[in-house]
Amino acid sequence: IPASGTYALEFEDVSFAYQPGGEEILRNINLRIRSGGRVAIVGPSGSGKSTLVKLILRFWDPTSGVLKLNGQDVRACSLADLRGQTGVMTQDTYLFNETIRQNLLLARPEASEGELEKVIEQAQLSETIARLPDGLNTWIGEQGLRLSGGEQQRIAIARTLLKNAPILILDEATANLDPLTERGLLDTLDTLMADKTTLLITHRLISMERMDQIVVLEHGRIREQGTHQEL
Ligand code: ATP
Ligand code: MG
Repeated sequence: IPASGTYALEFEDVSFAYQPGGEEILRNINLRIRSGGRVAIVGPSGSGKSTLVKLILRFWDPTSGVLKLNGQDVRACSLADLRGQTGVMTQDTYLFNETIRQNLLLARPEASEGELEKVIEQAQLSETIARLPDGLNTWIGEQGLRLSGGEQQRIAIARTLLKNAPILILDEATANLDPLTERGLLDTLDTLMADKTTLLITHRLISMERMDQIVVLEHGRIREQGTHQEL
């Protein structure tokens, strides 16, 4: 996949229903995200935000319309390309019954110790890990049982950062965090987003000033679209 396309992601009149002939969950979505751009999708629960992500990742294909990644129809991209291009953090974090280190290295097994330390700091995890008896080698147990929801989420964030993919997709990635931690994390994301295309999905209107386009989704349609100042 050429990385130099003007647009990293393009939705061209995309509509989608989970069942053939069923209710359209997305309707005539037209959206372009330029390479390096930062777009926030906001909207009430059930408006179709996560469905957009599922289409990008090709869990599903549009019922009509075209979805492009770096100028190419995603249906022509290999799944390996798609996964390599995107670093995704969704509402459901998945941690394995392994150590914290192993959970992080899943994203990029060859990462150095220095790189691990860096993402741990960026994900606001340093203190948490320092408090654990075995630090990074702490076994986190089945589905991360030994960690709080916010800690699990920060491990998943660190893992996504370690992957260092050109397109960052954060679907309510900071929803389980307290406002202070969330604010700190979004501050670091600001630096991280500098050289990445970012799609930030949230139903909280925080940090919108960091984004260059805000899209308001309602009942599967784009209701409003513009900059923070415009909306
Ligand atoms: P939230 O803010 O709660 O995460 P959302 O905007 O991400 O909401 P989606 O998860 O995209 O909303 O869901 C949009 C609609 O699609 C909802 O009505 C939901 O019930 C429906 N939906 C989601 N997944 C499926 C599925 N696999 N099969 C059928 N319907 C689904
Ligand atoms: Mg969702």
